Amino acid sequence: MKAAAFDYLKPSSIEQAIELLAKSGESAKVLAGGQTLIPMMAFRMAQPTALIDLNGIDGLSYIREQGETLAIGALTRHRDVERSELVGRHCPLLAQAIRLVAHPVIRNRGTAGGSLSHADPAAEWPTVAMALGAELVLRSERGVRSVPAHDFFTSLLTTALMPDEILVEIRIPKIRKRARAAFLEVSRRHGDFALVSVAIQIGLSVSGEVDEVALALGGVDTIPIDASPTAQMMVGCRFGEVRFHQVARAIAHGLSPSDDIHASAEYRRDVAEGLIVRALTQLSDSFEGHNGQGRNPTSR
Ligand SMILES: Cc1cc2nc3c(=O)[nH]c(=O)nc-3n(C[C@H](O)[C@H](O)[C@H](O)COP(=O)(O)OP(=O)(O)OC[C@H]3O[C@@H](n4cnc5c(N)ncnc54)[C@H](O)[C@@H]3O)c2cc1C
Repeated sequence: MKAAAFDYLKPSSIEQAIELLAKSGESAKVLAGGQTLIPMMAFRMAQPTALIDLNGIDGLSYIREQGETLAIGALTRHRDVERSELVGRHCPLLAQAIRLVAHPVIRNRGTAGGSLSHADPAAEWPTVAMALGAELVLRSERGVRSVPAHDFFTSLLTTALMPDEILVEIRIPKIRKRARAAFLEVSRRHGDFALVSVAIQIGLSVSGEVDEVALALGGVDTIPIDASPTAQMMVGCRFGEVRFHQVARAIAHGLSPSDDIHASAEYRRDVAEGLIVRALTQLSDSFEGHNGQGRNPTSR
């Protein structure tokens, strides 16, 4: 099938893009990497009357430090994130997750802003953003606003973006010194969307107690799920003494996945529980390797 007819507009500045989007009305769409939008148009699942292509705009693709955060331009390709030394150093959770996004060809074109705006609950970017409490900077003719990831994802493939807004930047808090991160997922084939994913970042105090936990799950609901409130049960414990299975069971128990053609709800809950145990075990090994926390075998 061919895409329905549409106007193609290629602005050279973000101001021009915002103006065109405001003028074109609600049926216009922004084009970033095109890795999701173009197939959807080809299947006529999306029929925008106008495409506003962001690819001619300089200055929307960057990764830079901004105080305690890493600022990533919306048009930054997954591949640039994957190769970024800054991301590897300051946001290891994202560095691990990005390698699991599709295949290199898709990562060469797909963008941070496109993934977050499309808001697939099984995609890696939204799960990382939810886990780390990223801020998403949105621009329109009405001004600029910054929306926390918690408020950005509203329901399946739906976000807080208004029809006249463009996501321009993602701000992610840098990892602290005594913190470690793990991103794990299960998918049917390498490069497929995850059936379930888990993003965890844990920080320890100088004396070795857990003092920071961020944990989100992808693929278990219509939006990525922030399980940090339940995971706080680890705070104050020495990490080596945490009962990983107990934490994983408590979190999995609170999930409400649905049955679909890819997996049953029960399977997703079981996989989530198993992945949390594996991720915590990986973090335990990583702490042990780096600061001699010691591993308590009874925690497994
Ligand atoms: C075979 C295949 C496998 C894939 N597997 C995975 C996977 O495992 N994990 C994963 O995360 N993704 C996967 N993807 C999707 C890929 O990561 C896309 O890059 C991503 O979903 C969309 O990014 P894009 O830049 O291509 O956006 P586009 O396709 O250009 O746009 C997607 C949507 O976002 C909107 N949009 C784009 N940018 C902005 C912006 N700055 N502001 C406002 N709205 C915007 C568009 O209007 C459109 O509605 C896969 C894609 C394919 C084709």
